[in-house]
Amino acid sequence: MTIGKLIDGKAFAAGLRDKVANGVAGFVQATGRKPGLAVVLVGEDPASSVYVRSKGKMTVAAGMESFEFKRPDSIGEDDLLDLIEELNQDERVDGILVQLPLPRHIDEAAVIGAIDPAKDVDGFHVVNAGRLATGQEALVPCTPMGCIMLLKDELGDLSGLEAVVIGRSNIVGKPMAALLLAESCTVTIAHSRTHDLASVVHRADIVVAAVGRPEMVRGEWIKPGATVIDVGINRVADIEEEGKSRIVGDVATAEALAHVRAITPVPGGVGPMTIAVLLRNTLVAAHARAGLAKPE
Ligand code: NDP
Repeated sequence: MTIGKLIDGKAFAAGLRDKVANGVAGFVQATGRKPGLAVVLVGEDPASSVYVRSKGKMTVAAGMESFEFKRPDSIGEDDLLDLIEELNQDERVDGILVQLPLPRHIDEAAVIGAIDPAKDVDGFHVVNAGRLATGQEALVPCTPMGCIMLLKDELGDLSGLEAVVIGRSNIVGKPMAALLLAESCTVTIAHSRTHDLASVVHRADIVVAAVGRPEMVRGEWIKPGATVIDVGINRVADIEEEGKSRIVGDVATAEALAHVRAITPVPGGVGPMTIAVLLRNTLVAAHARAGLAKPE
């Protein structure tokens, strides 16, 4: 039985962050200022706080300016919109990221819609989503962009390959499908209403699972030699150590390894790519705002 390869997203992300750091040095030389990323965190969600802290650290490590804005859960929508407007106007800020989810009393779409599309480094603004969908230059959501980078690194030209994306969210599934289409794949988007998901997945040369259901995609669903990108992050009880938990993806990795050409592990696959692409998007936004050519 052949065993597929585990794609090392951690190493790829480290390489990408190094590239960004070089690009930042060039930007500072050309403009005399550092690119700046502003992160807005509303509330005290522990997972979001950890994520924001780690974004801040990596932003600084890449040579950029990091601005953090923490606001209480009780903040009103108007006050949050005022903060976004301030950041839109702030010349030191090239990228604005609002950590999601927001408290229920705040309209997420209104907040994202208030971000200047030129500073929308999460790529969630409808202007960027529309640009991506119509094949124009756009700031692209970080996680799917990270997935396409890993796929191109593993497979080279993706043209003509059959790709199945499981999940149709605005932040992963839909932009992922748009990126695969832009690479001339034949794309199917599957979701909770899809009939016979196993057969749909079995057609695919490329499977991207972005569902949020632990190990839902089984090994035998996968066409021999397919490449699998597992976006899922699911916390489950550890069967070996009582009271402990562990993180698994949407794909049963151990089973899948017997079928795949390559697969991203969870953790250590797609996860580390997200922040690295966020830094890259900030550098890209800074270049565009400064009237410089897009960095490599
Ligand atoms: P959402 O909950 O927004 O979307 C999940 C999608 O999966 C929906 O389109 C849903 O279909 C579909 N789905 C649910 N159940 C099934 C099923 N039984 N069969 C087929 N499709 C199904 O999640 P996100 O897109 O935000 O995230 C997906 C996963 O990726 C999560 O585990 C999340 O934690 C992870 N993630 C990881 C990131 C990273 O950095 N690695 C970043 C972002 C997300 P329907 O639309 O019909 O309801």
